[in-house]
Amino acid sequence: MTEAVSYSSLGLRGCKADFPLFRHRPELVFLDSAASTQKPQPVIDAIADFYARGYANIHRGAYRLSAQATDRFEAVRERAAQFFKAPAAESLIFTRNATEAVNLVAYSWGLHNLNAGDVVLVSEMEHHANLVPWHLVTGLRGARVEAVRMTPDGRLDLEDYAQKLQLPNLKLVALQHVSNALGTIHPARQLVDMAHAHGKPILLDGAQAAPHLPLNLTELGADFYVLSSHKMLGPSGVGCLIAAPDTLEAMPPFLGGGDMIREVYAERSTYADLPNRFEAGTPAIAEVVGFGAALDYLEGLGMEHIHAYEAELFHYALEQLNPIEGLELYGPDSDRAGVISFNVRGAHAHDVAGFLDEANIGVRAGHHCAQPLMRALDVESTARASFYVYNTKEDVDALARELRDIVNFFG
Ligand code: PLP
Repeated sequence: MTEAVSYSSLGLRGCKADFPLFRHRPELVFLDSAASTQKPQPVIDAIADFYARGYANIHRGAYRLSAQATDRFEAVRERAAQFFKAPAAESLIFTRNATEAVNLVAYSWGLHNLNAGDVVLVSEMEHHANLVPWHLVTGLRGARVEAVRMTPDGRLDLEDYAQKLQLPNLKLVALQHVSNALGTIHPARQLVDMAHAHGKPILLDGAQAAPHLPLNLTELGADFYVLSSHKMLGPSGVGCLIAAPDTLEAMPPFLGGGDMIREVYAERSTYADLPNRFEAGTPAIAEVVGFGAALDYLEGLGMEHIHAYEAELFHYALEQLNPIEGLELYGPDSDRAGVISFNVRGAHAHDVAGFLDEANIGVRAGHHCAQPLMRALDVESTARASFYVYNTKEDVDALARELRDIVNFFG
């Protein structure tokens, strides 16, 4: 765990100093953490140290180095289960990312539980990662996907949700916890309770929630919860599916191969217990070790502090950006993670992002893998600034200053 220094202009508890990228690129104002976050030194060190001193393949070695590597890997599973307050360590499955975790549920649970005419209920705010797997699997089963509408201010329309929960043949609800395009924090507990009141299982896509909110997944009670390490200071190549053990026990494997079997004959195989049944092949071993270091680091900062710090940055950003005429902001004024989506009237989002890049401000522009949401907003694309623990009010000031210039240029 890193000792954090306290300088407010150096991010939450001075943590910006722990991120070498900002030392190497001191001019950069990095506002693209919703896509992927930068990595603190302890995460980089944990990966380098593991490769230098502790690396071997896991689970199958008869020698100490392999046994120790296995222990390191499995210790991160325990650590992550404790961090997210998962129902049990064996029901935390390591995947490549949140996308693969949704695919796991779609192809394992979906393929075996959906029948012709059945419905999977998503929303028009979803990231494509929580849409396309359902399109694929409902297509295979003759089932279909329906979407909950978004309100004009960028929240889930809960009345529409309540109505669609009554759809005949509804089999599963799959909704995001936090929007990647707008930053809207949805009332997860209410979404879960409403689904369960109708006896429907629910998957929550936590890719944008896990980095920003303290989570207690046992209390939340979603049947499936998915997330990605690279969006929360950890390396890419690691994600998690978290579910109750009995839910996973009842599901067939998704990917087949080494590590996930009990016995294999030439003609058939039987499968391992949890969690191995869902972890075919050699996993991202060093990356999982790095993910463990990221969780330690986040715990050092405190998830409550992270949430409060980002809320402060977000409201400061609204104060700075709201008065700029010619700037269109999207999303609600409250219940937001650190994401601001915007357009400059008369300019394409890609041009705005290009101008900001000239000023060393990195934002994203496009549909943000949320084309249905863009259609609901009636725009083709937006520019998106997203904040995390290392961002500062100075970063927001730089963004506001450049946007004033861009608006003047296009005005
Ligand atoms: N869900 C949401 C809300 C996201 O923002 C993202 C990534 O941006 C994903 C899912 C997919 O994450 P990954 O690309 O890590 O699988």
